[in-house]
Amino acid sequence: MKLHEYQAKFRFAEFGVPIPKGKVATTPEEAFEIAKEIGGTVVVKAQVHVGGRGKAGGVKLAHSPEEAKAHADTILGMDIKGLTVEKVLIDPGADIQKEIYLAITNDRASGKPLIIASAEGGMDIEQLAKERPEAIIREHIDPLFGLHSYQANAVASKMNLAREQWRPFVKIVRQLYQCYAASDAELAEINPLVIQGNGSILAVDGKMIIDDSALSRQPKLAAMRDLADEVEAERQAREAGISYVKLDGQIGCMVNGAGLAMTTMDMINLYGDGEFGPANFLDIGGGAGPEKVVAALKIILSDPNVKAVLVNIFGGITRCDDVAKGFIEAYDIVKPNVPIMMRLQGTNAAEGQEIITNANIPRLETADTLTEAAQKAVAAARGV
Ligand code: GDP
Ligand code: MN
Repeated sequence: MKLHEYQAKFRFAEFGVPIPKGKVATTPEEAFEIAKEIGGTVVVKAQVHVGGRGKAGGVKLAHSPEEAKAHADTILGMDIKGLTVEKVLIDPGADIQKEIYLAITNDRASGKPLIIASAEGGMDIEQLAKERPEAIIREHIDPLFGLHSYQANAVASKMNLAREQWRPFVKIVRQLYQCYAASDAELAEINPLVIQGNGSILAVDGKMIIDDSALSRQPKLAAMRDLADEVEAERQAREAGISYVKLDGQIGCMVNGAGLAMTTMDMINLYGDGEFGPANFLDIGGGAGPEKVVAALKIILSDPNVKAVLVNIFGGITRCDDVAKGFIEAYDIVKPNVPIMMRLQGTNAAEGQEIITNANIPRLETADTLTEAAQKAVAAARGV
């Protein structure tokens, strides 16, 4: 789960990271009041879950409350990479002398948290990694021992920071790591971390991604979820306890088990021959009853690209007759107008088959093997 810039920075501040003392506005009038209260130059910043807001016109300096109001008026409601801006952060303007990049992320390859830093902050870090990889400093952290001072010092040294900046920088690295660890974060990023004219260091931008699997023990962070920024189908799936990822293809998939779901997607790609592909990843999970099947079918069909649905169930804990019953219930509620391929194997497959056959669902075909099911689904999507 992504946090907004203001949420990430307020969270950083709880661990001592210095941030500009700004506030969030949802109307131009509020922006005016906040800018007046702050006084002097402020920066008006769009709060949406995408990077590169600066380049998209979502970050603007204002030298008076009137100007802040005018910028807020332009930025609120603006579309940035497909997301509508609902909130702006009004921060006191920073006196930027130098922009640094600092992040802590999960490095899956080493199974450890990783500090990523660069003296060339501000710009797109992915681009910097491509163009000048030597400008990026990496330091792994042992999660058992935690971050050692010498490691943070080594980062400061490799970045060629002025000697007087080492102490405050090292402190920020430490605080950011504490914040990352205590938040079950996958990413805690400051870009830019700025050095101001008076030598002080300030986190001007912030980004955090929280591990979804840890949200149950992070109620404070879980409550920060911005429902407006979530794809509707993904929200429904989350609430129904279904794993769902929307993809670009035309064949909706309803599968039990993540591995089988991946295999099903591979088979669709294989027989889709570059022309047809899976419309989604969907795992209804083990022991899925009728209500989950209803939710899954609704979610799959909410995607307008879907031209056919492939149901692939291998009964283990999940029983095929349960899925079949659920499917019939779902069919009556959702009334799909696309062809459906169904493969039921494993526990109570025969009972499931019988239920489906007796229901006489129009445009539903069954298949015994996954190969047959995938071929039929592609043919159906083609309109054959
Ligand atoms: P992003 O484009 O989404 O990463 O948004 P940022 O918050 O990083 O802002 C983009 C750029 O705007 C930064 O790299 C800075 O150069 C500039 N910027 C942001 N806040 C301030 C500020 O308070 N003062 C000045 N002068 N520039 C700022
Ligand atoms: Mn940034």
